[in-house]
Amino acid sequence: MRWSQLLIPTLKETPQDAEIISHQLMLRAGLIRRLGSGLYNYLPLGVRSLRKVQNIVREEMDRAGAQEVLMPAMHPKEIWEKSGRYETLKNGMFRVIDRQNREMVLGPTHEEIITDLVSREITSYKQLPCNFYQIQTKYRDEIRPRFGLMRCKEFIMKDAYSFDVSSEAADESYKKMYDAYVRIFKRCGLHAMAVDADTGDMGGSSSHEFMIPCEAGEDAILEADDGSYAANLERAEGFCDLPMEFPGAELALEKVETPNAGKIEDVAKLLEIETRQLVKTLIYVADEKPVAVLLPGNRDVNDIKLNKILPGAELADPEVIQKVTGADVGFAGPVGLEIPIYVDRSLKGLKGGVTGANETDIHLKNFDLERDTGITEFVDVALAYAGDLAPNGKGRLVEKRGVEVGHVFKLGTKYSEALGANFLDENGKSHPAVMGCYGIGVSRTLQAVIEQSNDKFGIIWPISVAPFELLITVLSPKDEVCMQHAQDIKTILEAQGVDVLMDDRIERPGFKFKDADLLGLPLRLTIGERGLAKGEVELKARTDKDFEAVPVAEAAVKVFEKITAMREAL
Ligand code: ATP
Ligand code: MG
Repeated sequence: MRWSQLLIPTLKETPQDAEIISHQLMLRAGLIRRLGSGLYNYLPLGVRSLRKVQNIVREEMDRAGAQEVLMPAMHPKEIWEKSGRYETLKNGMFRVIDRQNREMVLGPTHEEIITDLVSREITSYKQLPCNFYQIQTKYRDEIRPRFGLMRCKEFIMKDAYSFDVSSEAADESYKKMYDAYVRIFKRCGLHAMAVDADTGDMGGSSSHEFMIPCEAGEDAILEADDGSYAANLERAEGFCDLPMEFPGAELALEKVETPNAGKIEDVAKLLEIETRQLVKTLIYVADEKPVAVLLPGNRDVNDIKLNKILPGAELADPEVIQKVTGADVGFAGPVGLEIPIYVDRSLKGLKGGVTGANETDIHLKNFDLERDTGITEFVDVALAYAGDLAPNGKGRLVEKRGVEVGHVFKLGTKYSEALGANFLDENGKSHPAVMGCYGIGVSRTLQAVIEQSNDKFGIIWPISVAPFELLITVLSPKDEVCMQHAQDIKTILEAQGVDVLMDDRIERPGFKFKDADLLGLPLRLTIGERGLAKGEVELKARTDKDFEAVPVAEAAVKVFEKITAMREAL
C-alpha cells in the first residue's frame, strides 16, 4: 500500500484529552479517532492491527477446539430476566426500544444467549464437551469511559463459553482456554501475567485474570517478589508476620480514658502508639446473629474472604452495636463480649495491645489476646498489603498496577440451571451442563500492546500485530529511478506475503523519519538518490540505533530474512 493513498492522519502534538501514552500514540499515529465518550472510529491502520489481533485469537481458539459462532448484539430483555441479570446489571446495560415498544438490551456479554442456544441444541452427554466462541462488539454503559480503547462503551471482545458433563471435565476445558490465552498474549508480543482473581458476581469457583503490568492500570495486583504468586488485590492472600508483642505485654489489663477517640487513628495518636497495636473490633450480623471480627488496627476486612467465612454477613447498625457492646460505636472490644469472636490470624500472639473497653470513651491497655478473650476461630479475613509474606512463606508481596486484557472463569451451573441447558447422561438422567466463560478484550489488547511497547519517538510494534511489517521510505518520490527500485522491492516482498507500506509522500526526509518512528513499524527500508548512487539502500529495525547499508540488489532478500526472524521470535 502507498501512504499517499491511505488515511494516516499523524499528529505532531500530543492530544490534550489523552492521559496515557498508548491513547496518545493511537491518536498521534492515526490509528483511531474519537466519535464521543467511549466511542472510537478505527482508521485504516487501526483496523489492520485489530484484524491481526483477531486472527491470532481466532487461530488459538480454533487450535484449542473451540467453534466460532456469531450471536446478535441485540437481545430480547426477557432472556436477561431469566438469569436475574436484567436487574443486577441494569445500570450497566444499554437498552433500546423497537417500533412495537418492546425493550431490548445491547449485550454487555453473552452468557445468557449462548446458554439459551445450547439449551435448545445440545441434549446429550455425547455432544459434550463443547466450547463456542465469537468475536463480537459489546456494549457497556461504563461509569467512566476513558483511556481510549481501554475502557469504552462499545468495544470488541472475544468471548467463549464451554459446556461440560462434570466439574472435572470443566476444569479440563478451563485449562485449555488458560493455555490458549498464554499463547495468544505471547503471540501479540505482550508480557501478560495470570493472576488469581476475585470471583465477583459471576457465581463461579475459579478464575484468573490476564494482566498487563503498567502504571496506568486500573487494577491493583499483589505479586510475590520471588515470582511464586500473583493475585488481584481483592483476592490476594498475604500474611503480616510482624511481631505482635508490644510494651505492657506482661501487665494486667488497665482502663484508659480516650474521650471522643472512637477512631483507630485518634486513639493511636492520643496514646502515642502504632495503629497496629490496636485491635479493630467490628460487629457484623450473620444469620441474624451478631458476631465480632478482630483485626490489627491498620488492616481492613477483605469482604470476599469474610463472605466465605460468614456468608451474607453485613456490618451491624449502630443500635445493634450499642446493644451488643453497651457502648457507643468506636469503643467495642472483645473483652467480656458474649458473641462469637473471629480473629484474623495476623493477631496471633498479640500481647500489650489496646482495645475498646465496651464503655464509651474508654479503652483497655495491656491486652493479651489469648489471656483476655475467648476466640471462636482464627481466620484469614484481612486484605493483604504490600510487604506481607506471600502464601509460600518466602516471597514478599509487592504492589503493581495492571490492565486486565483477558479473563477465564469457571462458572459452574448458574446459567445452565437458569436457562435450562441440561443434558441426559448415559442412564438418561438430566443434569445442568457445567460451564466456563472466557473473555479477551480484543480492542483493549491492541492498545495494551502499545502501552507496553513504545519509546519517546512513538510506537514499537511487535511484528505480529503491526499494521504493516515493513515501511519503505522513499526519500525522493519524484525521482523515477528511486520510485522504480522501491516499487520492485515492494512487489517482490508482497508476493512473499510481507505487509509493506511505502511512504511515497512528497515531504522532507526529516518529516518522514519522524512519522516512521511514530508509526513504529518493525522494519524500515530507506531508498534515496544519494544511496542509490552508491548502489545502496538503508535498513533499520525500529529498535536498532543505526542503519545498515545494503546493496540494492540484495535488499528484498535481506528484508525477507529479517522479517522471518522477527516473526519466528514471537
Ligand atoms: P474491567 O474490570 O476492566 O471492567 P471486566 O472484568 O468487567 O473488566 P469482563 O467482563 O471480564 O471484563 O470482560 C472480558 C474482557 O473484556 C476484559 O478482560 C477486558 O479486556 C475487556 N473489557 C471489559 N470491559 C471493557 C471496556 N469497557 N472497554 C474495553 N474492553 C473491555
Ligand atoms: Mg473481568
